[in-house]
Amino acid sequence: VFGDSPSTPPEIGQALAELGRLGQDQPSLAAARALLSDILPGLFTEPVQEAAPSLATDHAVAKLAAGIPLLRGEVFQLDVRGFRKRWQYVCSMVERHQGAAAAKALTEGLCRDRLVPAELLQAVLAGRPEDVHARVDALGLDAGLTATVLRLTMFPVLAQINSALAPLRAGVPWHHGYCPTCGSWPLLGEYRGLEQTRWLRCGLCAAAWEFARLQCPFCGTRDHRQLGYFHVDEAEPKHRAATCDACRGYVKMVSTLTGFSGPQLLVADLATLFLDLAAAERGYAVP
Ligand SMILES: [Zn+2]
Ligand SMILES: [Zn+2]
Repeated sequence: VFGDSPSTPPEIGQALAELGRLGQDQPSLAAARALLSDILPGLFTEPVQEAAPSLATDHAVAKLAAGIPLLRGEVFQLDVRGFRKRWQYVCSMVERHQGAAAAKALTEGLCRDRLVPAELLQAVLAGRPEDVHARVDALGLDAGLTATVLRLTMFPVLAQINSALAPLRAGVPWHHGYCPTCGSWPLLGEYRGLEQTRWLRCGLCAAAWEFARLQCPFCGTRDHRQLGYFHVDEAEPKHRAATCDACRGYVKMVSTLTGFSGPQLLVADLATLFLDLAAAERGYAVP
């Protein structure tokens, strides 16, 4: 699957190359790396059919001013065939790599219409991911795995919709810790360029938004006594976690010259898995 076949979009090729290098210095990631290497190209093989909801500029500006993510309350037609195809693909890769019976159950749940794609997506975009958990729990399926599979399945679609909506956000301030497009908490953050401006990145739609350096994205505190950092490996200052003792939240921060592409974001999330483990050990969690 590696390599530069003509059908592989350049940003996928670049993300796959980074994924390949990642395996060399973090052997413990080998299994997760192999899984993501197989999943990434398959997610982007077919063009996305969904169109972004049409939002009038003044409506969009009013929503953002009120702190409401652009996709909240909007309806767009989900390409159910494409959704099912990607969902089954991701599940089959999880099954192949991890022998997970849970992944098989998820695929079957979807095929038997017990999990309805549009309902899952609607719950996430409405800011009620716990509804997905409840639905999945009730079916006896693995909630954590479902959330991951759903996120990967929707990623190409929501990333494209985010790109289409991005012009509506240009020049409009957004000071919240949640995504201005879909309302999710950030997957990680970037310190960009020489100025090291802080950007947060959404793991559901790949949106990027600038955010204060000394503020917690989750509870909003600016109390510097509550805000801190930790490194795991002092020799690797590129990766660190920004922590908040007021709400015990944390966000992984990565230094980068320019912002990550969508696929690179997924790779960076995997590359910083050690920060998630260290944060959990220290009693920090993402709300
Ligand atoms: Zn988002
Ligand atoms: Zn906080």
